[in-house]
Amino acid sequence: MADPELVDVVVLGLGVGGEEVAGRLAEAGLTVVGIERDLVGGECPYWGCIPSKMMIRAANALAEAHRVNELAGSAEVRPDWAPVAKRIREEATDTWDDKVAVDRFTGKGGRFVRGSGRLDGPNRVRVGDRVFEARYGIVLGTGTRPSIPPIDGLTGTPYWTNHQAIEVEELPSSLLVLGGGAIGLELAQVFARFGVRVTVVEAADRVLAVEEPEASEVVATALRADGVTIETGVKAERVSHDGAGFTVHAGDRRFTGEQLLVVTGRKAHLDELGLDTVDVDAGRRYLPVDERMHVTDGIWAVGDLTGEGAFTHIAMYQAAIVVADVLDHMRRTKAGPDASGTASVMGGAAGVVSAVGGAMSTGGSTAAPGSVPVADYRALPRVTFTDPEVGAVGLTEQQARDRGINVQIGYTDLTSSARGWIHKAGNAGFIKLIADADQGVLVGATSVGPAGGEVLSALVVAVHAAVPISQLRHMIYAYPTFHRAIEDALRTLK
Ligand SMILES: Cc1cc2nc3c(=O)[nH]c(=O)nc-3n(C[C@H](O)[C@H](O)[C@H](O)COP(=O)(O)OP(=O)(O)OC[C@H]3O[C@@H](n4cnc5c(N)ncnc54)[C@H](O)[C@@H]3O)c2cc1C
Repeated sequence: MADPELVDVVVLGLGVGGEEVAGRLAEAGLTVVGIERDLVGGECPYWGCIPSKMMIRAANALAEAHRVNELAGSAEVRPDWAPVAKRIREEATDTWDDKVAVDRFTGKGGRFVRGSGRLDGPNRVRVGDRVFEARYGIVLGTGTRPSIPPIDGLTGTPYWTNHQAIEVEELPSSLLVLGGGAIGLELAQVFARFGVRVTVVEAADRVLAVEEPEASEVVATALRADGVTIETGVKAERVSHDGAGFTVHAGDRRFTGEQLLVVTGRKAHLDELGLDTVDVDAGRRYLPVDERMHVTDGIWAVGDLTGEGAFTHIAMYQAAIVVADVLDHMRRTKAGPDASGTASVMGGAAGVVSAVGGAMSTGGSTAAPGSVPVADYRALPRVTFTDPEVGAVGLTEQQARDRGINVQIGYTDLTSSARGWIHKAGNAGFIKLIADADQGVLVGATSVGPAGGEVLSALVVAVHAAVPISQLRHMIYAYPTFHRAIEDALRTLK
């Protein structure tokens, strides 16, 4: 076996979080090895956020064209998947080629290694025959993969995960979607708008079960209007595939489709990471981290595998903390890579630390010595990009009640707001506010509507900065915007 190669930092997994950490540490002058077994950039640019939002943009254009009939004359629409598939292939993913991303990383000074890595004892990562030893730390950013439920008959059938759904060039005539969460609903609506007969099968008693029940209701109604069949409270027991299509069996009921898309959650595959070699329990669903993303001595984790929220913005938020903390750790150990390099590395490090610290408001959290910000998830925003969009931040009503908060609820229907009424076709939505009556602040909010995700931003600021409700009531809201409905909802708080 070759001798270990000594570097400053090893980043394992170059998805959104890992690539950001590795690139910024390399830019700060550290020797950084970034290891990726698939595509640099990870799930988001190739099989997640970006291509799925391109699909949604196209599907929403179709839906808007249909609304011409109600608002502006008549329009005839003939959906065609080819331009969507082409855009994903050519503009989003370079036909699933990461050369641009690899060059971006090496252009920052990083050393790229293609392969599957695992921990190999403290400070060490192995990739095939090569072993890297990290002076200052190892960062794990290995993300998640689809969690496939152990349904009888499913294994071995040619079902889709999000990968095949994003890569599809020719649409099936019908699609069964197993899982009514955000990803399942977004894709279900897209395919339905392109003429696919879609059935969503969900085990819970409502779709989008992690969000407010009112949001589930509005989205289910919207999808049904697009022709989607929604079956809730259905526990799939068996899947059969006869070459022509799939059947999902649940008790006496049968659901059929030419294709089956399984979107029943994600799982971090901790057992593959060699965590046992550093005395960390690999038997969990996610990898627990502290508020500075520490897993254990010399190891940090970033992104989906931490279980703090499977969103690109969480991975980026955590990445900023990891970069600051690794640089702070390096400075505190006073062990720069070499005497001449130390000054420039330290200069770069300090610059990054202060830039990160400056960019991040930690709300009520306390920053550590060295001004490294700590993670604060109170105002975690999340958006389901269905039409209407579902934006949510902080606690739902049920979560707030479960925590014993003295809850007040504010609610307004978007259709009765000035802008909602003007908008007319496609104006379904609402604003729901969750207030802590004792503190006089919002602890959660949901914004559903044509621009639900954008309207959310004001509510995120309110929750994040704990803006007093009295101040929110005395703001000026531009007329006639969708966000002006926030003022209406505030008026109903009780
Ligand atoms: C269909 C879909 C739509 C989405 N839409 C949105 C959205 O609109 N907004 C949003 O915020 N989020 C969205 N997400 C979630 C978002 O994609 C993830 O939160 C984000 O990709 C997480 O980044 P990550 O760095 O943690 O992990 P990943 O992006 O999963 O990257 C992890 C990387 O590690 C690599 N890896 C794993 N193990 C090893 C190993 N042992 N050795 C080497 N490399 C390894 C993998 O190959 C992968 O490239 C969506 C996800 C999906 C599936």
